[in-house]
Amino acid sequence: VPVRLHTPAQGGSPAPERLELEIELRQAMAARALELHYQPIRNLRTGRIAGAEALVRWPHPERGWIPPGAFIPLAEERGLMPELDRYVLRRALAEMARVPGWCAVNLSPQTLHDPGFVPFIREALEVSRVPPGRLVLEITERMLADPERILPVLQAIKELGVGLAVDDFGTGYSSLTYLRLFPLDHLKLDQRFTHGLTRSTQDTALVEGILDLARRLGIEVIAEGVETPEQLEWLKAHACDYAQGYLIARPGPLEALDALARREGS
Ligand code: C2E
Ligand code: CA
Ligand code: CA
Ligand code: CA
Repeated sequence: VPVRLHTPAQGGSPAPERLELEIELRQAMAARALELHYQPIRNLRTGRIAGAEALVRWPHPERGWIPPGAFIPLAEERGLMPELDRYVLRRALAEMARVPGWCAVNLSPQTLHDPGFVPFIREALEVSRVPPGRLVLEITERMLADPERILPVLQAIKELGVGLAVDDFGTGYSSLTYLRLFPLDHLKLDQRFTHGLTRSTQDTALVEGILDLARRLGIEVIAEGVETPEQLEWLKAHACDYAQGYLIARPGPLEALDALARREGS
């Protein structure tokens, strides 16, 4: 029987090392020790930095930098995501003065389904005095699979003046025509399609179709995971709106984003 580290026995408690990690994560949040790294997003028409995505990082005293993939599954399992996402949102708003353009923050399904979340965003915006239009919330395509539940929440977020992006597009279950139901500003093309560009004719055709449909719906497309000049050239030639990926910059501390924006005069 394979050992499934991320899944505790039904109704049981997590393994001791996972319990320890959970306690440490709670402590790290309480101590404001989690940090945000930022990855710039380039406007392919103007060539400028249009915004950045905030990605959480945990500097652990013994284990070094723990990437989100190593603790978000645990946080989800333990119901900590609403707290973690609020932490990240608050911190991103506090750091916003140094982010060029908009700042995108990721949300988990648990957070979006929490009735206190929209009032929390409103208050956090007021306290930080950040114009709502400078904040973009990223939800995954999978969350759109339950439109009756999600639509009122997305509409309430839209009414605050906050932007909405659908993340990891192309990996989930929603059909393309479904998109018009939701008040979306950006669609983020999953890395797997970006990586297939110019290599797989199927992926290339699919991306052409997505770009075409998004244009008709008035939704801007951000290609994620852009790693090669060939991918970037293809995206520019096909009028993709934005690009994000290692070719432009890896996620890094605020200082690195600052330096890049200054260098480029964004
Ligand atoms: P995501 O939202 O799809 O974020 C993009 C991930 O791709 C980031 O990984 C980023 O470092 C990585 N990436 C960016 N450019 C490239 C590239 O050119 N090539 C490749 N191979 N990878 C690239 P990261 O930071 O490890 O985050 C992983 C996931 O963890 C995120 O995926 C997101 O789903 C989640 N996450 C991160 N921060 C938060 C947060 O504050 N709240 C929530 N709810 N989720 C978060
Ligand atoms: Ca994201
Ligand atoms: Ca993504
Ligand atoms: Ca729009």
